[in-house]
Amino acid sequence: MEKKKIAILGATGSVGTQVLEVVRAQADRFGVSVLTAATNARLLIEQALEFCPKTVVIADESKYNEVKTALSHTSTGVRAGAAALEEAVQHDGIDMVVSALVGSAGLRPTVAAIKAGKDVALANKETLVVAGQLVMDLVRKHGVRLLPVDSEHSAIFQCMVGEQQNPIEKIYLTASGGPFRGKNSSYLATVGFEEALRHPNWVMGAKITIDSATLMNKGLEVIEAKWLFGLQTRQIDVVVHPQSIVHSLVQFEDGSIKAQLGLPDMKLPIQYALTFPARIQNQLKRFNFADFPALTFERPDTETFRNLALAYRALEIGGNMPCVLNASNEVVVAAFLRGEVGFLQMSDVIEEVMQRVTYIAVPTMGNCMETDRHSREIAAEVVARQKKAYYLAR
Ligand code: NDP
Repeated sequence: MEKKKIAILGATGSVGTQVLEVVRAQADRFGVSVLTAATNARLLIEQALEFCPKTVVIADESKYNEVKTALSHTSTGVRAGAAALEEAVQHDGIDMVVSALVGSAGLRPTVAAIKAGKDVALANKETLVVAGQLVMDLVRKHGVRLLPVDSEHSAIFQCMVGEQQNPIEKIYLTASGGPFRGKNSSYLATVGFEEALRHPNWVMGAKITIDSATLMNKGLEVIEAKWLFGLQTRQIDVVVHPQSIVHSLVQFEDGSIKAQLGLPDMKLPIQYALTFPARIQNQLKRFNFADFPALTFERPDTETFRNLALAYRALEIGGNMPCVLNASNEVVVAAFLRGEVGFLQMSDVIEEVMQRVTYIAVPTMGNCMETDRHSREIAAEVVARQKKAYYLAR
């Protein structure tokens, strides 16, 4: 069997390392052609020595010499810088690009992969939040597949196999509710990043873990689902399901609902994206009903967790507003992780930035980049102001 050659953007992250676990477990099916990291040179070198890719890219140029020296006795080429990420995904011989960078930094290399005619397994939801319409237009133009890695979107995608002729009435994205499910605003006013990083069901990168605690992750997923599955906002609902066993549900026009279930383990949706349309045998732990006698569902509390409501608002407004939402969220999450703003202030900052950035109804790719830059600038200014208030209140 010819091996499928994979390029992994963000190989050193939570998703990236799990992609490599899948590749390691299915070494007769997959080979690695490109691995990239932002700054983690040590892990990137380790991965390159094990998987022997054609190229590695370290975005942080100051780490180039370290990586180059460590791999000098191998045939792996070493590149550095953001532009090298875009170049590396275009190489001949890459069958699929896994986009597992975090944040809007994923947009340009993902677009480069699509334009080079590569199928993309998409974990980087920010790509579709920032420029959903433009990215989907490119996917159609270049005739590539955009396969979801996010477990909820993989679930929807799996439920839709064989249903191409059957319109969707609505979908339900499930949310664990994060570590603060059921908590009120006065409790949330006191929480810091250490508690927010303790997700009950999933071990993930820091940014998405904070997004899960604020429900922004679900908001970004609502926007991602709109573009991936061509839905209207009113067709996308969120339901809190604390056990994270039902990964999402699709309701068809006859009222019938299909769901996809499994233990919370990203390796399953990753493997499905890599092998679609086939399902292949693996050694992942199986779900046992006896361990989960009760699967429960409840409505999300969008008055306390305002980020989900803000994401719906951004989607309703459309244009560049989801891009504004995403950029300001990236800035506040970083500030929260530095202890500069409180949990509840994150929504205040995002809301203010959404009110201040100039609205563009039909943004070009250039408009999206500029909106991203400008929103970050305003968000940083609002954070600086909020930071003073936060310190004074403590
Ligand atoms: P991590 O923070 O764990 O990993 C991010 C990866 O991207 C790392 O390899 C990091 O390199 C690299 N990176 C970060 N910033 C840049 C940049 N500016 N330029 C180049 N490379 C960069 O994130 P996750 O793996 O948790 O998440 C990745 C994406 O997948 C996100 O969009 C997230 O929403 C999505 N996702 C994640 C899930 C999960 O279980 N983790 C589940 C579903 C979706 P370095 O290590 O050197 O910093």
